[in-house]
Amino acid sequence: MENREAELKEKITNLKEKRKAIILAHNYQLGEVQDIADFVGDSLELSQKAAKTGAEVIVFCGVLFMAETASILCPDKIVLLPDRHAGCPLADMITAKQLKEKKREHPKATVVCYINSSAAVKAASDICCTSANAVRLVEKLAGAEEIIFVPDQYLGNYASARSGRKMILWPGFCPTHIRIQPQDIARQKAERPQAKVVVHPECRPEVIALADEVLSTGGMCRFARETEAKEIIIGTEIGIIHRLKKENPEKRFTPVSEQAICPYMKLITLEKILWSLKNMANPVKVAAGTRLRAKAAVDRMLETG
Ligand code: SF4
Repeated sequence: MENREAELKEKITNLKEKRKAIILAHNYQLGEVQDIADFVGDSLELSQKAAKTGAEVIVFCGVLFMAETASILCPDKIVLLPDRHAGCPLADMITAKQLKEKKREHPKATVVCYINSSAAVKAASDICCTSANAVRLVEKLAGAEEIIFVPDQYLGNYASARSGRKMILWPGFCPTHIRIQPQDIARQKAERPQAKVVVHPECRPEVIALADEVLSTGGMCRFARETEAKEIIIGTEIGIIHRLKKENPEKRFTPVSEQAICPYMKLITLEKILWSLKNMANPVKVAAGTRLRAKAAVDRMLETG
């Protein structure tokens, strides 16, 4: 390990103890950030971890909607986002006002909102979902007359196809996952015919159609551990390759596309984690009224899923 990295990690570890803090990191974070984290996971796993932690401070190494979700679940804890510019363009593709207008057009519809959404959008929704449980949750809404799914059209389309349930889809998308193209998979498959192809449900349907498995990042980590395949082609943000290689050194992981990088996830660095902990900087707090309504949607997901 470089001196710089070792020094920063030591300072963060000491300060973390002093602050009674826990560091949670998403699977798309930089390798050095994943390595200092107490827990690395997908959105669902991180929100469950946040809900259960006894720590006083949560340093959230991810993007704003994730830190907001931690604040929704843990109002008494201080949630820090080490870079306040770490947003999510997909989450920003719908506002609460736009969702309310859509609800007026479909007054009987149940609103399912992907966790990649603002606290205000969650507050205007009936139930949240993640990429790990979207299909299961939609299947459980058998009694709903109509379903509006926001904001990711591709996850919505996938959940609709798998559950056989027609839904009104908001036309949002993840700019990182739409960079993954079917021709990238074809090229990788031609070079590695034995490899399994695993993609994220935020990918386009043409990409999903070529995959052996469609999984959340948490699901990909489990699949990598359990599969007998020695080579796996990964169709999601490339940060996850660090964790996959670390946990499965005997297996080979190849990203479908080196272009699949989320610049917002990469804003968090060791320097910023240290700065944030030192100064208790960039606290994320969801206002009480919004929090309670958003929490109801998140709780429904945690209870159902
Ligand atoms: S990978 Fe896509 S959905 Fe995830 S934070 Fe980045 S832009 Fe948002």
